[in-house]
Amino acid sequence: VVVGVRMWRHSSEHKKWNGTGSTAHFQEIALERCYNYTQLVQPELRDRDCQKIREAFRNAFISKDPCSATEEDYHPLLKLVKQTVPCDKTVFWSKTKELAHQYTKVQREMFTLEDTLLGYIADDLRWCGDAGSYEMNYQSCPHWKKDCSNNFVSVFWDLLSKRFAENACGVAQVVLNGSISNAFDRKSTFGRVEVHNLNPMKVHTLQAWVIHDLGKFPSDSCSGSSINDLRWIVMQRNIKFTCHDNYSSVKFLQCVKKPEDSSCR
Ligand code: NAD
Repeated sequence: VVVGVRMWRHSSEHKKWNGTGSTAHFQEIALERCYNYTQLVQPELRDRDCQKIREAFRNAFISKDPCSATEEDYHPLLKLVKQTVPCDKTVFWSKTKELAHQYTKVQREMFTLEDTLLGYIADDLRWCGDAGSYEMNYQSCPHWKKDCSNNFVSVFWDLLSKRFAENACGVAQVVLNGSISNAFDRKSTFGRVEVHNLNPMKVHTLQAWVIHDLGKFPSDSCSGSSINDLRWIVMQRNIKFTCHDNYSSVKFLQCVKKPEDSSCR
């Protein structure tokens, strides 16, 4: 009986946020992904210490108020995982995650953020702790809109996205979704963080690909007003901007999944 009461109190104490709780087995998944990446996906990183990386990741947020995350919390982790992406190989995306990842999976030398070690480890995971505990909170975590924007997951992605953009060089690419009304959205991570952190001394061109879902009516395109916004922002920053509707390499990927679509013939 005593154990039951304690467990009940424990979980009710923790269910205080509106977002989904930490991913079950977060520690194990992070460690396994780290080994998979450093030993198999990018063996040039085989010397990275995954135990240390896992530990640094955990230390960034454990025993802290989950609504008071700062960039500094992640600095030790980022220091441990320095990784450079070759020039011309950076791919950003916004509302096109699956497609962008399919693209870099085929174009093995291209990198989205999730094709770098930290992005690879954290993709689709959730994590938060609690100021009064050494445990992760698996019951609930702050929702970025309903609770707080400076939660550990949002701060992590904003920081990683910023670094990823700062480090880009040569031509950078972005895959945008032409089947929604604003292919470019100033409030997205791409529009809010990545575009503004491209370094004009290093990136000479941003190449946008606006992709329409097969069988859906195109809602936006290179000539639409949202892409014009993007063109304006990028050109203001002294970076050349090009845009292409339905890039054929990406189109072929869509057609592998849906060969019967009329536009695939
Ligand atoms: P998007 O709108 O498609 O969002 C991508 C994902 O991030 C979605 O699951 C969204 O719910 C989540 N997200 C966005 N802003 C968030 C925030 N402040 N807090 C918590 N979750 C948030 O596209 P986007 O916003 O332009 O982000 C994509 C770009 O930014 C990519 O270029 C990538 O480099 C980077 N990024 C990746 C992730 C990821 O989960 N892998 C998350 C954020 C940003």
